[in-house]
Amino acid sequence: MEQTTAQATSVNIVTEVPGPKSRDLAKRSAEALADALSLVHPIYVHSAHGATVTDVDGNTFIDWIGGVGVMNIGHTHPEVTAAIIEQAQRFTHTDYTIVPYEPYVRLCERLNASAPISGKVKSALFNTGAETVENAVKIARVATGRQGVICFAGAFHGRSLMAMTLTSKVHPYRAGFGPYAPEVYRAPYANPFEFDGDEQAASDYALGELKKMTKTHFATESIAALVVEPIQGEGGFIVPPTAFLQGLREFCDTHGIVFVVDEVQSGFGRTGTMWASEQLGIEPDLLLSAKSIAAGIPLGAIMGKASIMDKVPDSGIGGTYPGNPLACQASHAVLDAFEGGLLDRAKEVGRQLKEAFAALCDEDAGISDSRGLGPMRALEFSKPGTRTPDSDRVDAVSAHAQQAGLLMHKAGVGGNVIRVLVPLVITDAQLEESLGILRRAVEATR
Ligand code: PMP
Repeated sequence: MEQTTAQATSVNIVTEVPGPKSRDLAKRSAEALADALSLVHPIYVHSAHGATVTDVDGNTFIDWIGGVGVMNIGHTHPEVTAAIIEQAQRFTHTDYTIVPYEPYVRLCERLNASAPISGKVKSALFNTGAETVENAVKIARVATGRQGVICFAGAFHGRSLMAMTLTSKVHPYRAGFGPYAPEVYRAPYANPFEFDGDEQAASDYALGELKKMTKTHFATESIAALVVEPIQGEGGFIVPPTAFLQGLREFCDTHGIVFVVDEVQSGFGRTGTMWASEQLGIEPDLLLSAKSIAAGIPLGAIMGKASIMDKVPDSGIGGTYPGNPLACQASHAVLDAFEGGLLDRAKEVGRQLKEAFAALCDEDAGISDSRGLGPMRALEFSKPGTRTPDSDRVDAVSAHAQQAGLLMHKAGVGGNVIRVLVPLVITDAQLEESLGILRRAVEATR
């Protein structure tokens, strides 16, 4: 029979979730893949468009994960797809520093122009977020002739040796993988939630502890870099007070330390501006990007003051694949979309999420905080009346939502934060539909 009515919803669940084909694939996965590669949502993707994902069993979900912050521009954006295809038909690889190509140059020019860094800016491209972290530390060390690195409690910077060392969460990211890189010092991050929302107290505490560490942990003249997320991503979408970030900037200025701002997760429009740094009033020396920079084609970038970037001797940074032409072209299409108004949409999505999350937080004693910047939004769940993380509730909400057609991902050192990394192209109808699913999941698990 011919379908006559238009489908009113985006979600369309037609089998059990996961469906039979996904279940078969998950079995093969368990047999063939290393056990560490466990699955958050064992739903095998067939195709994805905008803010939806359709699985091999024909079920369609709204996607609040966006490949963990990679798909800010949305899945299979037509301009991105066209740019990749067009480039693939011309050439896919030469190794930029061996036989160069124009899209790499133009991309660095565009990134330099977008970075909130004063004076002359230069860039270098890499493949992943972790690679940008590793290379930022190398650049800072060679530029300063120092070795030490300061990082923060709750931080996440990746899984390679230096990046893992800078990462905070012990299980699963660090335990058993030592020895860690030497000369790394971890300071407290300013988390207003731990001070009942008192931003001044949170900032004073964290900056005070850092100052104490200059007596008890390290000599400032031996510190090359301070690496910080302007909003902690994996750490639970913690938005620190601007006074804290500005205090870190001053600390770096006072002691000649390179201020490395990791916007791998918070950048590329996630907070409603191109970079969170813009809204938080800080100027990085080195700015790190990856994830949404190229809509899923692996790419990372370091943008930095030319006076620092150019201290690296010939061929001291690079690799075979960094700045792959497919990734560069995808990134140009992403930048075009942002220049074409996607930031306005991001702000609107952020506004709607903020309102809905604040209401949920008011209604539910188990939701202890609603926070974020623009559409980088989160809900923290704690045992009612305490700050004790309630990761079981988050797992239950997520499982309930998955069954109803919404895919979400948690964060936080305690695993008790629901975070939203939804493609910014989500429609109002999809946003409303997905918020309805979340609301019902919260109610059903209360
Ligand atoms: N830095 C931050 C802030 C991140 O969120 C991540 C990834 N979640 C990384 C670095 C590591 O990026 P990648 O997985 O591309 O190595």
